Amino acid sequence: MAEYLVRSGHKILAQVGQTQVQDSYRFFYKRLWTLDLPSKNKIMVWRSSRNYLPNYSNLHYRRIMGTATCRRCQEEAKTMEHLFRNCAVVKETWERLDMGWVVSEENTDFIEWLKSFLGTHFLGMCRKFVCALWGIWTFRNKFIHEGERCSGAQIAGFVTNYLKELDGLKESLPATRIQRARWVAPLENED
Ligand SMILES: [Zn+2]
Repeated sequence: MAEYLVRSGHKILAQVGQTQVQDSYRFFYKRLWTLDLPSKNKIMVWRSSRNYLPNYSNLHYRRIMGTATCRRCQEEAKTMEHLFRNCAVVKETWERLDMGWVVSEENTDFIEWLKSFLGTHFLGMCRKFVCALWGIWTFRNKFIHEGERCSGAQIAGFVTNYLKELDGLKESLPATRIQRARWVAPLENED
């Protein structure tokens, strides 16, 4: 009987834990899709949260590669945490984006880091965060596939310009309206 109670207690706890995990994921996805960014940026971050990105940190890749060292800095194991937060180039990227504080949580699990960031910051900051993750991933691929080595300052510059361009696209709509209003004005003077 006692054993039964303990077991069912464990079961209930496990279920509660599972629900909490599901809830925090649900919030993360909802928040991610709310962000005013192109889908490709959000899909990349969504994939990273599902650990779908090939990152050499799983055993299969480790066996093939024979090493789990980051090719960019020759340090540490190549994990999601290293790729997006702890690698020297990436740290510099965050610093140049005035977001150096995001790397302070060196030991936080990658998924937890994503979820807690999106859960505790304003949408504008989340947008910058997600865009930066996408930029970091894009340049990491350029390095791996094309051998193009970029500094953290260059990656941060790319992310900043990318966001500026997106904002510029939004601003082009009211500008058209102003032009039309100006065109109407001479007609009124003719009366
Ligand atoms: Zn590295």
